[in-house]
Amino acid sequence: MSDPALTRGDAPLSALSGVGPRRQAQLQKLGLFSVRDLLAHFPRDYEDWSRITPIARLEDGATACVRGTVARPLDLFRKPGGKTLSRTAVFDDTGKLSLTFFNNKYLRLETGRDYLFFGKTVFYGGMRTMANPAVVPAGDASLSGAGLKPLYRLTEGISQNYLRKLTGEALALSAGRFQEPLPPALTETYQLCPPEEAFSLIHFPASWDDVRKARRRLIFEELFTFCLAGQRLRSQSARLPGAVLERADPEEFFRSLPFAPTGAQRRAVGECFRDLCSGVRMNRLLQGDVGSGKTMVAAACAWLACKSGKQAVIMAPTELLARQHHASFSRFAAPFGIPVELLCGSTPASERKRIRAMLDGGAPMILCGTHALIQNDVALPAAALIVVDEQHRFGVRQRAALGEKSLSAHLLAMSATPIPRTLTLILYGDLEVSRLDELPPGRQEILTYAVPEEKRQDLYGFLRRQAAEGGQIYIVCPLIDGDEDDPDEEKKAAATYAKSLAAALPGLRIGLMHGRLKAAEKEAVMTAFLNRELDILVSTTVIEVGVDVPDATVMVVENADFFGLSQLHQLRGRVGRGSRQSYCFLMHRTLSEPARQRLRTLCTQRDGFAIAEADLRLRGPGDFFGRRQHGLPDFAIADLASDLNVLEAARDSAQTLLRDDPGLDSCPLLRERVDAVTQKTLAVSLN
Ligand code: ADP
Ligand code: MG
Repeated sequence: MSDPALTRGDAPLSALSGVGPRRQAQLQKLGLFSVRDLLAHFPRDYEDWSRITPIARLEDGATACVRGTVARPLDLFRKPGGKTLSRTAVFDDTGKLSLTFFNNKYLRLETGRDYLFFGKTVFYGGMRTMANPAVVPAGDASLSGAGLKPLYRLTEGISQNYLRKLTGEALALSAGRFQEPLPPALTETYQLCPPEEAFSLIHFPASWDDVRKARRRLIFEELFTFCLAGQRLRSQSARLPGAVLERADPEEFFRSLPFAPTGAQRRAVGECFRDLCSGVRMNRLLQGDVGSGKTMVAAACAWLACKSGKQAVIMAPTELLARQHHASFSRFAAPFGIPVELLCGSTPASERKRIRAMLDGGAPMILCGTHALIQNDVALPAAALIVVDEQHRFGVRQRAALGEKSLSAHLLAMSATPIPRTLTLILYGDLEVSRLDELPPGRQEILTYAVPEEKRQDLYGFLRRQAAEGGQIYIVCPLIDGDEDDPDEEKKAAATYAKSLAAALPGLRIGLMHGRLKAAEKEAVMTAFLNRELDILVSTTVIEVGVDVPDATVMVVENADFFGLSQLHQLRGRVGRGSRQSYCFLMHRTLSEPARQRLRTLCTQRDGFAIAEADLRLRGPGDFFGRRQHGLPDFAIADLASDLNVLEAARDSAQTLLRDDPGLDSCPLLRERVDAVTQKTLAVSLN
């Protein structure tokens, strides 16, 4: 998203030496088309060659740089299929290290000479070993100034060294051509280095201080642009006329409920009603933990719309959820005689026709359906309210499409992903926010335990007993070693896992859910689980949000330390929907101290907002944004928010600038960038 403001940065990559059609095609797989893209392809990490670790101090599993003398010539083995394996050992004053290289026929190491080796140490049968370390002759001039080597996201055929070389060239080509999009007052106040320096330091830092300096600027710029885009959208929509609903006393609706609303629900309904009667279009995000009762708030709003003679539309990401909504809204609407209909992909044509006639007729009604509602030919001329559930899958672009369907409909987006307040303001800068930070009374606590690998057999015993008592079990297994962007690997890992589980738990019915399944297949598996045709659902992280499986009593998360706290909390929320005691087991092997703290937080804390704040504190926002799994925007610098103060500063500065100069007339380059974010990134990233 961050984008070097180069005057001629959009030069194609073929402007760089040696980039022909083949290279271009490979680079495109990384989303790199221009010199500008290449410069904005930030390192995901660095190899720290500046710190040499004595061999005796190498730790199992840790990545480090060693300076060692080659003890003996490389032993080369040929394996079937033309593969090769070579071995040697190196030593320093403190110890010996074995090295293995795969398929590196051209490697030359001179016995008796010193080299630097960079790689991950593994203890193997009492030996320290490294497989495929990066190697440089000690004293190599190219390393002397460059203590940190950038590590990029790669694709087939593109190596780290190649990207380093190419990026170096791109920087040289762009020298003197960077423009400063930020107002000078800001770069001064926040002491941000100029863009050219930032881009050069982020790729080729001499020290971690350089990295921090570059990041500070790039992060600020990225977030600032993002905030500006959000805040501009918000101020624009704040001027859009909305359907005017008639004021009504929410108590009238509350009296029809089988329960007393929580204080948080009352507050949220009040905030919504104020918007709905204001004449200005509502753009509100309702955030609340799983089970906090968001549906009721939406139902109150739908009731108000219908009471004013209008229609309300409820959209969900899947058919299954849409059907569950249809059932709940039917219950809420029954006392008032408001008709509730269901429209989704599988609705037969005749039914579709009948519903469409009702919509066209304009009489009050509530329509539940999938997001497909906005993609097909359904017009919603009389809709005064559109509710979108699980909003994090629903982007600005879809919201715009909705606006076209119904010109004055209010929007209520609902999300069960609690995120810290600071981040809410930034990520959803274009929305007002209501929070349900209170669970309805009597909600059972989900007993949560961190379970070490040694206790796995006990876990299986427990699962058997739960299943025998009619409890259903979710098991989430993340892909930890492979490339999680590769859906095939994800599928394979999950399938292997399910197979070993079937062997350990004979007689239990096990279903499998993964990213490779088509939407209809996912729904089929989910429906089978819901209908109790499965005891265990093994899933990768694609597990459906929001679906209510009342008999699900156990959530097992494998390699729990791999997940962020908020995500674990989300997963835990899949159980505890019915009356039975529910459990969450967080499986882990060895734990680092921060990971131990994270799991402990989860075992003792049940409030999603508190957990989100803890997550931010314990891991730093970079991790919080995590591996694309939160549905939050992907920023160009993954670890972008390593400083919360920068986030807040960016937001406040955006506010101040827009107040003084709403059209951004004083900074045309910045405006261009903000427009680009609004057009492209914001829409995509909120999806
Ligand atoms: P979510 O916020 O996850 O969408 P729901 O709206 O599905 O939560 O509510 C979860 C359950 O809690 C539903 O069965 C709902 O009827 C019930 N519920 C909602 N509000 C209250 C309340 N104030 N008191 C008791 N039960 C409630
Ligand atoms: Mg819900």
